[in-house]
Amino acid sequence: MSLPYPPRSAYYDGKLQSASSTSSFQTIDPATAKPLANIHTTSQSGIDAAVASAKKAFPAWSATPHIERARILQKAAAILRARNDELAKVETHDTGKAFSETSTVDVVTGADVLEYFANMVGGGGLNGETIQLRPNAWVYTTKNALGVCAGIGAWNYPIQIALWKSAPCLAAGNTMVYKPSEFTPLHSTLLAEIYAEAGVPPGVFNVVQGGGDVGAYLTKHPDVAKVSFTGQVSTGQKVAGSAAGGMKYVTMELGGKSACIILPDADIDQAVDGAMMANFFSTGQVCTNGTRVFVPQSIKAAFEKKLLDKVKHIRAGDVSDPNTNFGPLVSKPHYEKVLSYIKHGIQVDKATLLCGGPEKPAWLSSHKNKDYQNGYWVTPTIFTDCTDNMRIVQEEIFGPVMSLLSYADNDIASLIARANNTDVGLAAGVFTKNLNLAHQVIGQLEAGITWINTWGESPAEMSVGGWKLSGVGVENGRKGLEAWVKNKSTLVDMGGEVPTVFAKL
Ligand code: NDP
Repeated sequence: MSLPYPPRSAYYDGKLQSASSTSSFQTIDPATAKPLANIHTTSQSGIDAAVASAKKAFPAWSATPHIERARILQKAAAILRARNDELAKVETHDTGKAFSETSTVDVVTGADVLEYFANMVGGGGLNGETIQLRPNAWVYTTKNALGVCAGIGAWNYPIQIALWKSAPCLAAGNTMVYKPSEFTPLHSTLLAEIYAEAGVPPGVFNVVQGGGDVGAYLTKHPDVAKVSFTGQVSTGQKVAGSAAGGMKYVTMELGGKSACIILPDADIDQAVDGAMMANFFSTGQVCTNGTRVFVPQSIKAAFEKKLLDKVKHIRAGDVSDPNTNFGPLVSKPHYEKVLSYIKHGIQVDKATLLCGGPEKPAWLSSHKNKDYQNGYWVTPTIFTDCTDNMRIVQEEIFGPVMSLLSYADNDIASLIARANNTDVGLAAGVFTKNLNLAHQVIGQLEAGITWINTWGESPAEMSVGGWKLSGVGVENGRKGLEAWVKNKSTLVDMGGEVPTVFAKL
């Protein structure tokens, strides 16, 4: 059967490789459950070859003048922008996310980060510092590239994640072997080709294909100096544990169960819009989602009414239609997982179902594309009267499932304690007109990414990373570059005096 996309395999030595193993898998269009392409799993010898390619390319790439590296990466950002809609269509096919999102967010925010880090290194961002100790002695520091780095991505923002990892990695002079999620691999070799077209030399950005075993082999590879991982907490724990054996650098961008706090004086329309964004954008498949929405008792009824009005404006359907803003979930296993949480919320947690539920969405039966009935479609779901110990409130669902939790208006102290009562600490946000109070609350929240009166924006300039089990390190912003270099400090003594303790020897 001919599929919409040609087969994909690994990419190294500056070209697409032929299949290096006999096993393969298919990537599936989540809107219809139909296959999109055959993907050849990269064998262990193929992974070794990709790492060897990256190792060979490292000395020349790390020695390339910063301004020249910057120029090449800026060109890649320009190509990404020129091919935005074509790449967005691929992402829409692979992830199921509506084209209205992928064409305005996914490629754009990846290209922004590439441009940001290219400009940063071109503008002296890799300079070290000089510390004068005495008139004739000083310390200088240099920032040195790490070597071959592994990037392992999740499926929710495939090309954005690939760029958020490879942009600072390559800008700092490292080379990369990247493994996309097996659920969304299509972007990976396209990105490799775009880098090559921009002038990135062979071996600097490489791709291997496959599931967890490919990621595990790459993580423990002795020639890999750093692993940058995005995925679930449980997988991140395995990856960090394996990397620790080789004392590798790690960046871990993991899951969350973030608190979205509505304070009693909040502009209710703004707060409802924030809660919608924090739960239903990308069909709820966003790591920073604010799925625990804390609402004061005084405005609970009004808040719920406005939420129900807003939910009616979610437009599910043809994912290529620019008016659609809600797609299916990414895969069958994920669809089944999200449905099981919704059922658990109703049957076991006994939360009150405000809207949605586990049934197939009503619009599906009359949709013009009959294949959509096989897709992984769910209905936006809101539970209310939730309590802190419910499973739907405690565990990351990673789907369009909002939990409303109420609190006594005057008890902000216990509200903050409840918001912090979780092992994860990725994001948090506060809605209020009282900005002094907003900063006081934000200051006490145990999360690495926080917002006041907005939700979800994550520009290139903003360093993002989780606290607690949500991760280690940050991506983006000035601090994002530091994660891809190692420091060397040199003390220079112009007096040429050897410390007396040695002079006596
Ligand atoms: P997973 O942890 O299931 O997978 C992430 C990646 O790791 C995939 O490429 C996967 O391969 C690979 N992998 C699986 N097992 C191993 C292993 N033992 N060693 C190395 N690699 C392995 O996460 P999901 O793909 O399900 O992504 C969703 C999760 O990602 C959510 O928890 C979400 O919160 C989090 N996330 C965090 C972000 C952040 O910035 N903090 C941003 C986006 C998502 P494969 O899938 O091919 O089997």
